[in-house]
Amino acid sequence: MSNTLAVQEAPTKEDTLERMRAKLSEFVPDVELQLKAELAYRINVLKRQLNAVILGHNYMEPALFHSVPDYVGDSLELSRISAKTDADIIVFCGVQFMAETAKILNPQKTVLIPSEKAGCSLASGVTVADVRALKSLYPDVPVVSYVNTYADVKAVSDYCCTSGNAAGVVRHLLGKGHQHIIFLPDQYLAHNTAKEVGIPFVIANTEKAVDLPERALIGWHARCEVHELFTTNDVTSVRQQFPDVAIVAHPEVSPEVLELCDASGSTKQMIDYVRKTTADRYLLLTECSMGDNIAAENPDKEMLRLCSHRCPHMGQITLEDTLDALEKIQYKVHLSDELIQAARTPIDRMLEIR
Ligand code: SF4
Repeated sequence: MSNTLAVQEAPTKEDTLERMRAKLSEFVPDVELQLKAELAYRINVLKRQLNAVILGHNYMEPALFHSVPDYVGDSLELSRISAKTDADIIVFCGVQFMAETAKILNPQKTVLIPSEKAGCSLASGVTVADVRALKSLYPDVPVVSYVNTYADVKAVSDYCCTSGNAAGVVRHLLGKGHQHIIFLPDQYLAHNTAKEVGIPFVIANTEKAVDLPERALIGWHARCEVHELFTTNDVTSVRQQFPDVAIVAHPEVSPEVLELCDASGSTKQMIDYVRKTTADRYLLLTECSMGDNIAAENPDKEMLRLCSHRCPHMGQITLEDTLDALEKIQYKVHLSDELIQAARTPIDRMLEIR
């Protein structure tokens, strides 16, 4: 699947419905598709009138994902795209920290998020005070913050990373001679990254410095409320029922679960894995909408679903709210100039590392 869904001219209402039917008729009843296509048509007309670009995260619900974004992708891909756009308005169909990142990269542009409620439990799991406490316990140790953090935490970090380049950023710092690296806030992503890179993992405690081995990734205790719910029992049960399944996990799942999977990676890397391999069927351990979006792009591949664990924050973004965002120019991301300046450096460093 290309990460661009851009079209030069706004498609007609009829074309919009036909495009959505071609992708989604297996998942979405036609009566629903007709309603969604009407909204998508109005959004696509308005975004051209306003010279707006719509960025859609891979976790967006299928009707939105396959109708209005000019670009789709994971946090890293969308950050790279937002750094280059010449649109006047960026509408970020994703969660708050993603829209903030787009604003930091485009301080002069209007950045909109369709719902003010689209937060992230993981991003809320670490504060500036936590980072400062860790820095005072471990002076001279660089701080890497996952892009799933708010702008104020990024502003006191040395590097940002996404799940797509977490190992690359850690290797980069090891290569610069750092023996210890603080990695925030996702405990499981940090632990899985430490394993991938081949260094020990320890959990930080802001009360007192823990004893460190010669080299270590120092992690934090926050977790994604969706990915932490997948269990080893989920994996073994599915394999028992479908021995030919290829299971691909996002690295925010626990190391025990990841160990049992066939592959892991960012949402982009998961998409590439499904596209390039030929298993009889696939199961993705990540937000459920992504399974639908990949299935729509790969009609020849059978996808199993574990959909009990959905991200309530990503689910806040709808076609209705996206239309409102463009009609009312809401909700604007506001960040101070000082914050933008301070958060820009770690984000730029992230964008330089694959
Ligand atoms: S899936 Fe997890 S990390 Fe992503 S927005 Fe939802 S809570 Fe945050």
